[in-house]
Amino acid sequence: MHETMKTSRIPTLLGIPFDAYSSYLRGAGEAPAKIREALRCDASNTWSESGVDLGVAGTYEDAGDLAFGEKDAFAAIEAGVGGLIEQGKRPVLLGGDHSITYPIVKAVARRYAELTIFHFDAHPDLYEEFEGNRLSHACPFARIMEAGLAKRLVQVGIRTLNRHQREQAQRFGVEVVEMRALPAYEKLKAAGPVYITFDMDVLDPAFAPGISHREPGGMSVREAIAHLHAITGEIVGADVVEYNPVQDVAGMTATVAAKILKEILGRMIAVGRGLAE
Ligand code: MN
Ligand code: MN
Repeated sequence: MHETMKTSRIPTLLGIPFDAYSSYLRGAGEAPAKIREALRCDASNTWSESGVDLGVAGTYEDAGDLAFGEKDAFAAIEAGVGGLIEQGKRPVLLGGDHSITYPIVKAVARRYAELTIFHFDAHPDLYEEFEGNRLSHACPFARIMEAGLAKRLVQVGIRTLNRHQREQAQRFGVEVVEMRALPAYEKLKAAGPVYITFDMDVLDPAFAPGISHREPGGMSVREAIAHLHAITGEIVGADVVEYNPVQDVAGMTATVAAKILKEILGRMIAVGRGLAE
């Protein structure tokens, strides 16, 4: 097996049970445990579609859930993710609401300059502030872009642009691919380090009802997987956010979140093994 130093970094799960900056509903903080349970469920085998057996010990690791302690929550998230990177791991975060991506990317960008972010979401999350909160789950990509933490931000599946967020996207040079313009496989090619952030509400609520903001007209699970498989570049980290178990129906969205996670992990590993085209 010819793995480079970089791609041999083991993907490592870290749960971020945080939903305090969710504007409409709480519940996403309960997601990490449910996603793990679905990932390990015997209803499915351990192989990703790209040909990686995630059941083999050492393929990926699980660092459990972040302990917040007395620290400011965002400082704790940044420190937790930074710690994994220092240990030579590739962080894969289980949210939590989408606000967590700002402190996560702060830590990732410290290690990887010229980061490309591939962002799957119904919403651009580019508000300057939302209901008086600049750290709201409606704002992370405004914070990330104004801090210069990414070279490129490519948003896929967007279907809720309003005037303010269109202006924000222009101001920050965001590459917005609206849902109505899909597929967009060519937009997902990157040469350098890549971070994937996957908001579960990019999926149509028919496939994934367990989310806080149901926005019809979204991706099928198959469309999402096809776009994840189209990603090139070295995936240095990822998150799956906004699964809300309180809104779920018979755990079906947990199963979908676990499937998405499996394909992201598979892609992270397959690229290093030369299995990805
Ligand atoms: Mn989002
Ligand atoms: Mn969203």
